[in-house]
Amino acid sequence: SASSAILFQNWRRRKAIARIPPRPIEIRSDEIVDGVIGLIGNTPLIRINSLSDALGVEILGKAEYLNPGGSVKDRVALKIIEDAEAQGLLHPHTGSVLFEGTVGSTGISLATVGKAKGYECCIIMPDDVAIEKVQVLEKLGAKVERVRPASIVDEKQNLARKRALEFGNTPLVDPPKSDPEIVVSTQAEPSEVGHQAKDSTGTQTQSQSIIPSNIITLPEILQPALESKPRGFFADQFENESNFYAHYKGTGPEILRQTSGNLDAFVSGAGTGGTVAGTGMFLKKALPDLKIVLSDPEGSGLYNKVKYNVMFDLKESEGTKRRHQVDTVVEGIGESLITQNFALGVDIIDDAYRISDEEAVAMSRYLVSHDGLYLGSSSACNLVACVRLAKTLSKGSRIATILCDSGSRHQSKFWSDEYLAQHDIPIDPSIIDRLFES
Ligand code: PMP
Repeated sequence: SASSAILFQNWRRRKAIARIPPRPIEIRSDEIVDGVIGLIGNTPLIRINSLSDALGVEILGKAEYLNPGGSVKDRVALKIIEDAEAQGLLHPHTGSVLFEGTVGSTGISLATVGKAKGYECCIIMPDDVAIEKVQVLEKLGAKVERVRPASIVDEKQNLARKRALEFGNTPLVDPPKSDPEIVVSTQAEPSEVGHQAKDSTGTQTQSQSIIPSNIITLPEILQPALESKPRGFFADQFENESNFYAHYKGTGPEILRQTSGNLDAFVSGAGTGGTVAGTGMFLKKALPDLKIVLSDPEGSGLYNKVKYNVMFDLKESEGTKRRHQVDTVVEGIGESLITQNFALGVDIIDDAYRISDEEAVAMSRYLVSHDGLYLGSSSACNLVACVRLAKTLSKGSRIATILCDSGSRHQSKFWSDEYLAQHDIPIDPSIIDRLFES
């Protein structure tokens, strides 16, 4: 009968599959890695076959979702903590607590790296981000506090800073300097490391920095006493330059190595700006002709900053349907002010594309059905920008971008058909056809 024929076919297919030797698990090192932290970075660069074949331009995605905490932010969390330790601002297993404001990814990474290193974690989040991020954070043992979303960074960041201060023994971090000195030219080597921090005694500390300045290091006699004390530490991903350096020293060199320098463009969105600035700066120095392109969701102010060097208040920005970033379904990129990490790279960004929710949604569905790639919203934005850029480049060019996190972090919003319907965001596959044709 027909059904037994189908059964037989399936049985033969299963047998055939069973005979194929299992694919070896991706081993990223020929040595045993040192705990969970040893899994951070060195992510593969994937040729995205459907887009590359359709465009005749190679689109390469850095698979940051394979980091142990599930996103590109693992690199940043690790670098922030390591730099703070090197500066004597944090000591593991002292009951010290990391505080941060985040839409989720950085919190999950801080909690992951924090647990591995011996720190607790307290995360301030807007109350409209996808609920699964909160759930993961809680499972990781982080304390989560939720705030009303604001159109700017400050709400959650200020509360995280305040909570760190309340906790006590908190290194006070200077507010960012808004003078032109923070703009780094492609010639100048930005000075390492991270924050210029002050101890709670008011003494400035900067043990590892090569910034030649009036920084006074903590008297050695105070160090042992502080080591044993639990401290509150505000990670401050937007202003802390350790974020930039995670990419300048990690993501950038990895992409250069993986492409053997055969690369024409780098595309990235910006939340804190650490990825685009750090990776972009490193690549631009190595490959001066490389084009750096920002992918910016609707309602973000960064597009105007790059294109016209103006930053509109988001509430006034061009009367878009969704007037500020919290109204976009894309999480993690788009910003309404220039943060220190973005400022470090703003001069090397050559162009920007504004990506609509509809385009990002269509791209994410296209990639699942053609490549089996299940990605988060910011990765989808990046790939829309890659397609637009590819149309302007000659055949055979190569573009690298960041696959920041996976779709599993976005099931209740970006990947929820019901949520999209409620917010009048269509799921329209023809958008991708038009992108290819335009
Ligand atoms: N994608 C996701 C999912 C993120 O969480 C973030 C960080 N907010 C980004 C992209 C942007 O990275 P960056 O902060 O380095 O600009």
